[in-house]
Amino acid sequence: MEADIPILYYHFIKLPSANTRIKGLYTSVKHFEWQIKFLKSKGFAFITFEDVRNGNYEKKKRNVILTFDDGCDSLYYNAFPVLKKYGIKAVIYVVAKSIGARNIVWPLNENLDPLNILTKEQIHEMTNFGIEFGSHLCHHVHLPQLSLNEIKSELSESKLILESELGREVYSVAYPFGSYNNDVLKIALETGYQFGVTTKSGNNAYANDLELFRYPVKGYSLRHYWYFYRTMRKLLKNLN
Ligand SMILES: [Zn+2]
Repeated sequence: MEADIPILYYHFIKLPSANTRIKGLYTSVKHFEWQIKFLKSKGFAFITFEDVRNGNYEKKKRNVILTFDDGCDSLYYNAFPVLKKYGIKAVIYVVAKSIGARNIVWPLNENLDPLNILTKEQIHEMTNFGIEFGSHLCHHVHLPQLSLNEIKSELSESKLILESELGREVYSVAYPFGSYNNDVLKIALETGYQFGVTTKSGNNAYANDLELFRYPVKGYSLRHYWYFYRTMRKLLKNLN
């Protein structure tokens, strides 16, 4: 990207249940709101990939993109009220063929609690507010394990499904499990994606637009306040 815009990534905005084994994907509403207030106090503007593409942001100021993977309905019930309260935009990556699915566990995600995925109605309401939706493929799969044709259909079909549902262009893709290779990057470009986000952390100023870095965020216990401070210290050091 031409500017170093840090990207944060979340999964679920709710508390993990006692049986959840991958607790790092959960952020409580309390932590989430505190993190938003922290970012605002540091002068960050919350933008989306559409803003980046259109140059619709102040390059000399601090900008951040909040992203959420998997499209779990806790984003509607718990994150969306906070986003509305502070008037901020974000990007949600939804699995195109799981929209509206109830109580599902994706293959290779058996350590997670079953998920309810955002419904079409919830997605429309959030879109009208200014939330941007990106592709998390048609199925929650490891792209490098697929044939070239399958990679192509995961990338192109999910983009088409979301675009026809939303009536807007889909600019970005989040590779499930942060899993991609050179074939994936080539096909993502050919399919018309302008941005792709990974699960590696770093400075986006010189990153390939289809391999953007993201900082993971979690938070449901006291030590996670410190974890967030540490992430922010790293991020602010990169910006200055
Ligand atoms: Zn995912």
